[in-house]
Amino acid sequence: MNRFSYLRAASVEEAVREVAGDPTARFIAGGTNLIDLMKYNVERPDRLIDITHLPLNGIEETDGGGLKIGALVTNDEVAYDSRIQDRYPLLSSAIRAGASPQLRNAATTGGNLLQRTRCYYFYDTGTPCNKREPGSGCPAAFGRNRIHAILGTSEHCIATHPSDMAVAMAALEAIVHVAGPNGERTIPIAEFHRLPGDRPEIDNTLQHGEIITAVELPAQDFSRNYTYLKVRDRLSYAFALVSVAAALRLDGETVTDARLALGGVAHKPWRIPEAEAMLRGKTASADLFGAVADRVLDGAKGYEDNAFKIDLARRTIVRALSQAADGKPQSQTDKRIQ
Ligand SMILES: Cc1cc2nc3c(=O)[nH]c(=O)nc-3n(C[C@H](O)[C@H](O)[C@H](O)COP(=O)(O)OP(=O)(O)OC[C@H]3O[C@@H](n4cnc5c(N)ncnc54)[C@H](O)[C@@H]3O)c2cc1C
Ligand code: SF4
Repeated sequence: MNRFSYLRAASVEEAVREVAGDPTARFIAGGTNLIDLMKYNVERPDRLIDITHLPLNGIEETDGGGLKIGALVTNDEVAYDSRIQDRYPLLSSAIRAGASPQLRNAATTGGNLLQRTRCYYFYDTGTPCNKREPGSGCPAAFGRNRIHAILGTSEHCIATHPSDMAVAMAALEAIVHVAGPNGERTIPIAEFHRLPGDRPEIDNTLQHGEIITAVELPAQDFSRNYTYLKVRDRLSYAFALVSVAAALRLDGETVTDARLALGGVAHKPWRIPEAEAMLRGKTASADLFGAVADRVLDGAKGYEDNAFKIDLARRTIVRALSQAADGKPQSQTDKRIQ
């Protein structure tokens, strides 16, 4: 680990000023991803600006009937908040599918959205990697790529975004609140993370120096027919090979509204509104869910080790939509898939 200086920010304005004025400075929240990356020499900030004492640690009602989660609220505080459990159980379930209790008690809402890929080559500074060192190449495309993306890839990067929380937030159409040197703005979550294209070193649409202050969940009713289904190599804490956040509104057996987002398959949570539209007004059935899955996976491309993910994703989508339609969400206590 390199030497760095440390400052505990006393206000959002101070935190923004300190990072915006120094390209080598980074915010630090729970530190569960940043410190790991510093130990691996992947991130080498000269200055750390500690934001953990800023007043961004509450969950508030919004005027529109939604909830606004402060950027420093820990993952477990979100998952076990009674309002989240009642009104956004999909989010609660997705968070509980991730990491371990110790990590979730340290990891924050802002940090979770900004965690970086788990690509093996990204962590290994002895290998090239376009995300870590632009222009050096992407060994994953021709190397070990079992955990990599099947959708939205480019010749420059085939990494996935590892967050579970972000997948549920994508399905719930969350809005990210940001403060920066040019003031405050909001970013719909669909526009927050980006595809790799020819700039895979850029994970999201935040500018350097901008800080996430909160994530807003709009009012909506997806609290009865939902599931977060995560397929992984081990039951104990492991990142998703494929995960699916599914939420339906039903009138009898007819779907009146639907949301579907996938994790573990792309550089960002993957959502295809046209596929959701296929569900509206139709009777819930395995055949319909299969057709929706085919639409979601239209254009999916497998690499040598991960071609299995295409069929896995298809079956996970069908299973997740079936669980949601049946009102039997995946248990995050007994993680064996029923
Ligand atoms: C062993 C292990 C298993 C894990 N398993 C899972 C899993 O299954 N699912 C899952 O989703 N996650 C998993 N995680 C990842 C974990 O959820 C993230 O490390 C965590 O959410 C990051 O939050 P943090 O507050 O610790 O971020 P930090 O490490 O403090 O920061 C991460 C990044 O975000 C930036 N940042 C932090 N807060 C802000 C802010 N408010 N505004 C602007 N920038 C900010 C930092 O500068 C840094 O670049 C796992 C982690 C470990 C170590
Ligand atoms: S997939 Fe992306 S992160 Fe992994 S080696 Fe290629 S460029 Fe780097």
